[in-house]
Amino acid sequence: MEGGKKRVDTRSAEAFARAKKVIPGGVNSPVRAFKSVGLTPVYMERGAGSRVYDIDGNAYIDYVASWGPLIMGHAHPEVIEAIRNTAEKGTSFGAPTELETLMAELVCERVPSVDVVRMVNSGTEATMSALRLARGYTKRSKIMKFEGSYHGHADSLLIKAGSGVATLGLPDSPGVPEHVASHTITVPYNDIESAKLAFEKFGEEIACVIVEPVAGNMGVVPPLPGFLEGLRELTSHYGSLLIFDEVMTGFRVGYNCAQGLYGVTPDLTCFGKVIGGGLPVGAYGGKREIMEMIAPAGPIYQAGTLSGNPLAMAAGYTTLKLLTPETYELLERQAVKLQLGFEANAEKHGVPSTINRVGSMVCPFFTEQTVNNYESAKTSDLDRFRKYFAAMLDLGVSIAPSQFEGMFVSAVHSDADIEETIAAHDAALGRL
Ligand code: PLP
Repeated sequence: MEGGKKRVDTRSAEAFARAKKVIPGGVNSPVRAFKSVGLTPVYMERGAGSRVYDIDGNAYIDYVASWGPLIMGHAHPEVIEAIRNTAEKGTSFGAPTELETLMAELVCERVPSVDVVRMVNSGTEATMSALRLARGYTKRSKIMKFEGSYHGHADSLLIKAGSGVATLGLPDSPGVPEHVASHTITVPYNDIESAKLAFEKFGEEIACVIVEPVAGNMGVVPPLPGFLEGLRELTSHYGSLLIFDEVMTGFRVGYNCAQGLYGVTPDLTCFGKVIGGGLPVGAYGGKREIMEMIAPAGPIYQAGTLSGNPLAMAAGYTTLKLLTPETYELLERQAVKLQLGFEANAEKHGVPSTINRVGSMVCPFFTEQTVNNYESAKTSDLDRFRKYFAAMLDLGVSIAPSQFEGMFVSAVHSDADIEETIAAHDAALGRL
């Protein structure tokens, strides 16, 4: 909104009040409620390209991108056409379709570590199923994850660290049984020494390590050199599986995903977000020998009424086809411009700032510390973030309502969009 005018949110406020009567907390996924920024959630009406429009008539340059999936922007004409053409032939059969094979072939081709891939309906389903597979395959129960990483809301993964290094986990939510949490070992991200210690203590019992190859749920945190390689060595040494949770990074940070970018090969990979092109899709895949333990090829059960849904496959397949190596170069260029613009603004205003970026994932933290794990991410000034978030919304830029999420640049963010965003950031910092 120009000239510091206050954004109108009357209709969003009414919609939220009405929703709260029939939906827990008014939303179908908690962070949408804007609780941590103390504002009314913005109800969206439509999206087109790089922009979203809310029900009060406000327009925003969008960097939420439905929390990552919309790498080609909102309502991309080819994606919409593919969905429309597919829908006309029926929406679901509960029988195999050729589109599922096309999609699987494409994923296997782009991600060399994936010989075989199973489609599911969300990132949570992908990680949950990959864990079951890892446990069934290794006949071990414990898993290792990293502090501040989010892998969806399955019981084994909603775990916070116990106190001290290499301790067993505690439930992060009521409803997660302690005995389930006790099988999850949590260590700090980017801390290979702690991972080593945990392996020395529990190595023979660890089924797998699940890691975001670029952490995207504590803001954006790149892996330090040697971290992913170290995990590869440790898991191989102890006969555990290495699972890359590429739900966020898959087809987002590079043509061959984060594993292509860093040159580390996991045993299993989880996908979500971009792979569904904005429809509900997840997937997990990896080495044939492991994947063929899944039913009906093997004894480990996993199924889904709507898995491989034709509409979802059409949206995902079309999106992946649109993504060429050149698209990633474009994404990188635009994201670098954003990062440099933000850094210059922070310096101009004297606001302590660290801007992390990997490919098209960008995250400004309000701290001068290097951010390479959850502890350092938490040094960001959250009060400042709240004010910054509100200012950005008022200035017509939509970012995730949390410091611990990145901005997603899409292939349809134009130079003008990027410049407008940098100008909004400049104005927002001026208001802090
Ligand atoms: N894994 C990662 C790295 C994620 O970022 C997310 C969601 O943000 C998930 C898993 C869960 O995916 P979904 O929300 O589709 O269940």
